[in-house]
Amino acid sequence: RAKDAGGTGMQFFSAEMSIETKNRMALELDLREALERNEFVLHYQPRICLDDDVPCGVEALIRWNHPSKGLVSPAVFIPIAETTGLICKIGNWVLQQACKDIQQLTERIGTELMLSVNVSPVQLKSPTLCSEVSGALQAAGMDTHRLELELTESGLIEDTDASHQLLRNLRTIGVRLAIDDFGTGYAGIAYLRQYPIDVVKLDRTFLCPTAKADNCLDFIKAVTEMCHSLGMRVVAEGVEDADMLRQLMRSACDEAQGYLFAKPMPLAQLGDYIIDRRAS
Ligand code: C2E
Ligand code: MG
Ligand code: MG
Ligand code: MG
Repeated sequence: RAKDAGGTGMQFFSAEMSIETKNRMALELDLREALERNEFVLHYQPRICLDDDVPCGVEALIRWNHPSKGLVSPAVFIPIAETTGLICKIGNWVLQQACKDIQQLTERIGTELMLSVNVSPVQLKSPTLCSEVSGALQAAGMDTHRLELELTESGLIEDTDASHQLLRNLRTIGVRLAIDDFGTGYAGIAYLRQYPIDVVKLDRTFLCPTAKADNCLDFIKAVTEMCHSLGMRVVAEGVEDADMLRQLMRSACDEAQGYLFAKPMPLAQLGDYIIDRRAS
């Protein structure tokens, strides 16, 4: 577009970029203060077990309550946190807060729940990740097998001894490991064999385009069967309609998560949601 418009277009284009860069730099400065100012909040989205139709876990999803911009999406600020290295501190806060929240909730309502926490590829390079994970569990008084860490394929792309060792160490602590956004990355099925993965989360973009196609059911079935034969559970993400849910149930998918059941919600609403859903 800049090229079509000639010289002035070029100028316009670079002016636009500098505004974007300024915005990003301002956000980056604010992000450095956000932890101390207590501006992060966690929302929780339930995961539903498809065999008994009951919530069996929740995923912690961070939001940034920016003083002037309002709630900022993680899709906006997590990448900035990653390039600046701030993600390690933020990630540790998420672990601490989420374990505390969900441990207190399960004690209050008397139901065991799995907790999933997203872990950035950058955190996987941090030598303190393992001790932070066990520290968070200990501080909250939570059983290690109730925590699941969601890793993305891009975080596992570095097939090094160090990354294998880290995942083994995390497994030794007793936490479960999940691959998030499965089907969107480069890795694919080879990774399922290489790494000690317990859970595969099928990305919604992986399910949706094929949902109406004739072979959709066969496709999801095949992936699910493969995961099961490798001893992994399968979770479908971003389930928005009942038709998709029916397909998933016929595919023997284990769990589903999505707006069809509930959007991510503040902790204050989560207890009631789980109690109501179990009662109905
Ligand atoms: P994710 O881990 O794949 O999380 C699922 C995203 O899909 C969430 O977006 C969730 O709100 C959204 N979602 C859930 N159900 C539906 C649905 O039915 N339809 C649609 N269209 N979307 C649905 P959210 O909360 O904006 O988070 C975006 C991403 O930001 C996450 O993707 C994750 O990669 C990252 N993220 C969130 N919290 C954290 C965190 O604490 N640490 C790190 N490192 N990353 C995080
Ligand atoms: Mg996730
Ligand atoms: Mg995902
Ligand atoms: Mg994602």
